[in-house]
Amino acid sequence: MKTFLSRRTAGLSPGAHSRAHLRELFSMLLRRWVLAAGAMTLLLGAQAHAQSGYAQTRYPIVLVHGLFGFDSFLGVDYFYGIPGALSRDGARVYVAQVSAASSTEVRGEQLLAQVRNIMAMTGASKVNLIGHSHGGPTIRYVAGVAPQLVASVTSIGGVNRGSRVADILRGVVPAGTLSESLVNNAAKAFVALINLGSGGTSLPQTPTAALNSLTTAGSTAFNRRFPQAIPAGCGSGAELVNGVRYYSWTGTLPITNVLDVSDGALGIMSLVFGESNDGLVSACSSRLGRHLGDYRQNHLDEVNQVVGLRDWFSVDPVTLYRQHANRLKQTGL
Ligand code: CA
Repeated sequence: MKTFLSRRTAGLSPGAHSRAHLRELFSMLLRRWVLAAGAMTLLLGAQAHAQSGYAQTRYPIVLVHGLFGFDSFLGVDYFYGIPGALSRDGARVYVAQVSAASSTEVRGEQLLAQVRNIMAMTGASKVNLIGHSHGGPTIRYVAGVAPQLVASVTSIGGVNRGSRVADILRGVVPAGTLSESLVNNAAKAFVALINLGSGGTSLPQTPTAALNSLTTAGSTAFNRRFPQAIPAGCGSGAELVNGVRYYSWTGTLPITNVLDVSDGALGIMSLVFGESNDGLVSACSSRLGRHLGDYRQNHLDEVNQVVGLRDWFSVDPVTLYRQHANRLKQTGL
């Protein structure tokens, strides 16, 4: 510093020298103060998030993906921006990785092993399971075979009573109920959606085991083994079964954002339902336990995809997850 000042002020009068020195000193102190204040603001901000504890559930939260099958979607998190938001509010969050397209039972066994690992790592005695799409039945499987490990099951856009799109793809839709062109277009739209998710252009391998699980018949058979919290009609089911709390919510608006490349496929598939749906799952099929609401979301908006493109005039999908974590916390879970 001294060398620098000497060089900068060489040739000046003693008074000017002193003023230059003071200006330099003041400037240095100001820079340090700004840096310190900035660091303090960041620190306090981080502490405020961590200390808010809004989503700080007693048991870890485990997020379980659906048919699109990846822990990431188009190179980003499947549950877009959701694990981070929950963590910032104090939750311990884990994202499970199960087979992309496999039967509910196979996926369920994979998840059960991961739940045991998470419990071993964290020392927690239970977990809160949150599943999207095929993740709904997948977490129900774990709660069905090992209820003692599960604090809560939350199904979002869950295929709990099958999907008419799966019925079409497996060719089990009763003849004459839909026009051939509509059936073909829905099947093409489904393939396009899977390709979009996988980032590939070739036809996807969609194992029949996954589709069989997602048909109405496959789901009915699964529900006979695991009837917990399935409602009799299309309202809410039992909230507490075998010590496990059950919740659900879903979207009921297939097209929500013209900028989202997935909306076209969801819009086409929505036409095969003839009832309220999110583009892939009917509102009735999604019901499980205490139903928390129907939202202006399609099947991918439910996980804040694609990259946050959703209906901008309704509730942020991420907010629903945060509020639910707070609900679990308030319930002592
Ligand atoms: Ca969307």
